[in-house]
Amino acid sequence: MRSLWDAAAAATFAGPLGQRVYTSRLLGSDHSLVLHGGGNTSVKIRQPTLFGDDEDVLYVKGSGWDLATIEPAGFAPVRLDRALRLATLDRLSDAQMVQELRAALIDPAAPTPSVETILHALLPYPFVDHTHADALLAITNTEDGFARAREIYGDTAVVVPYVMPGFDLARVVADRFPKDSTPETVGLVLLNHGFFSFGQTAREAYERMVELVTRAETYLKTRGAWALSPGGFCPATVARGELASLRREVSEVAGSPMILSTHSGPKELAFAQRDDLHEISQQGPVTPDHVIRTRRVAQVGRDVRRFKDGYEAYFRAHAGPSLQMLDPAPRVVLDPSLGLVTIGRTAADASIAFDVYSQTIDVVLRATALGGYRALPASDIFAVEYWDLEQAKLRRGGSAPVFTGEIALVTGAASGIGKACAEALQRRGAAVVGLDVNPRIRDLFGQRSDFLGLECDVSQPDTVDRALDAAVSAFGGLDMLVLNAGIFPASTRVDGLSLTEWRRVMDVNLDANMVLLRSAYPLLKRAPRYGRVVVIGSKNVPAPGPGAAAYSASKAAVNQLARVAALEWGGDGIRVNIVHPNAVFDTGIWTDDVLRSRAVNYGLSVEEYRRNNVLGVEVTSRDVAEMVAEMCGPVFSRTTAAQVPVDGGNERVI
Ligand SMILES: [Zn+2]
Repeated sequence: MRSLWDAAAAATFAGPLGQRVYTSRLLGSDHSLVLHGGGNTSVKIRQPTLFGDDEDVLYVKGSGWDLATIEPAGFAPVRLDRALRLATLDRLSDAQMVQELRAALIDPAAPTPSVETILHALLPYPFVDHTHADALLAITNTEDGFARAREIYGDTAVVVPYVMPGFDLARVVADRFPKDSTPETVGLVLLNHGFFSFGQTAREAYERMVELVTRAETYLKTRGAWALSPGGFCPATVARGELASLRREVSEVAGSPMILSTHSGPKELAFAQRDDLHEISQQGPVTPDHVIRTRRVAQVGRDVRRFKDGYEAYFRAHAGPSLQMLDPAPRVVLDPSLGLVTIGRTAADASIAFDVYSQTIDVVLRATALGGYRALPASDIFAVEYWDLEQAKLRRGGSAPVFTGEIALVTGAASGIGKACAEALQRRGAAVVGLDVNPRIRDLFGQRSDFLGLECDVSQPDTVDRALDAAVSAFGGLDMLVLNAGIFPASTRVDGLSLTEWRRVMDVNLDANMVLLRSAYPLLKRAPRYGRVVVIGSKNVPAPGPGAAAYSASKAAVNQLARVAALEWGGDGIRVNIVHPNAVFDTGIWTDDVLRSRAVNYGLSVEEYRRNNVLGVEVTSRDVAEMVAEMCGPVFSRTTAAQVPVDGGNERVI
């Protein structure tokens, strides 16, 4: 491991807390050390109180903060003497510990101190760093992990067998550290868990962490257990319907729709195709806190019921009488033709499960190369999975938005009504796939795990096919389809209409939607809460306008297509509804110039033209999008083939 210490960068962080922030970010930026909020750091600072006397304050990482992005406000300031005194107790429950640590804060608005706070307090050095380094996990998750750690570190680190993090671990360290440490000691090795390093300065503690990790890496290298093998072969593409079926079964077992993210790279395929997969994937996680993201073991193959039975048996074997079982669905599936599928309630959860399991693969392979991967016993993993404090982390999420775990595809999503629909569905918790001919669709919302933007001409069936493959690979299926993409050609009377222009409009506004409906049907049929389709029609369907023959005819035809789909697919529970917007001016077509010339045409001001409807209101993309989202939701659960105007009231339609 290379040190990332940069004297010039470090100098821009003032004081001991600034230095603490700097090296915490260095540790957090390395995913082989910590992942998604894992690890923690602290600094002890002597500072004056309001009364003029000095006190020692332990600034320790607050829960909910990530080392990679931590700020000074992410460190919870705990009175050191109070934290140290807690270590003298014989027993302390998790809930009591959290309460006592919160009561010891000098700032009641600070985040809750890390569960490792007492351990940080006990180590007699100003700076203390803690990581879950991959290299150490590969060495200690083996048959003789303890002996290997002793052999590698000798007097330089105190080796501590696995103890559940929190008060119990702090007590063990309080007992062992004074007895086992020597003048050479620079850190602690916690078996199946990670390293602690410490020092007089932020740099010293950080460089010692680098040294501890490097020694573990060197040990693996000298035993041929460092380099990872080349990738697996790529099987024939899996049919989209197969993945959607797997998602439906997982969602049924979970009791709510789930996101499935498929990773079929060479690394994932090679792992899923190993002969010893059944053995190495069923041992347990590389460190217990991963259980929250990955469950204790992965599901091998496609049999979700079998996984469920196994999970229930594991729960019965370890649970006390008052515990309530979590949902028994897998979070990781390994399959020789799919590779690695990670699962979560949200796209973000599925993505975190991927990061964690991707690291798991490396650790398991290295431990296997070292002589055999051995995880902790199931009882230790269960204790963390059903640990009060871990459960609290999950509960803190609050009630989930209505479309959590569901997937929506919106065409023409780069601007106007389509973009507003994508946003309205995201606000309600859906993962959204946006298609558009405009390449800006790819990073429409920046880097978000719940949005996949695909450049796609919907009038090209093979491009649509590839887009659906990408959507299902990213999220596992399709629950909602919003057919929005369309073109509005220049005004032409029927007697001057060219066949080429007519066909171009029909191609995009009608044929493309038929192809999309046809291709999406097998996925919508497998949606856990039944599929929903919303078609963006037009006021021109009930009230066509002169000069818009091709547009009006195409929208009337797609309207009829949607009504027939509603008839044919009702038996599958799929609802198809239509919204007819009119005069939505905040879209790309309506530039200020166009708006002005149209208003003049009618002898109106721009403002009057905008509100030229029965209610006298402006209609925005967002108004239309909110209707679209509601049509996908419970309010419309008993409604199909409805045609709802969003136009402020139009006399010709009424
Ligand atoms: Zn830890």
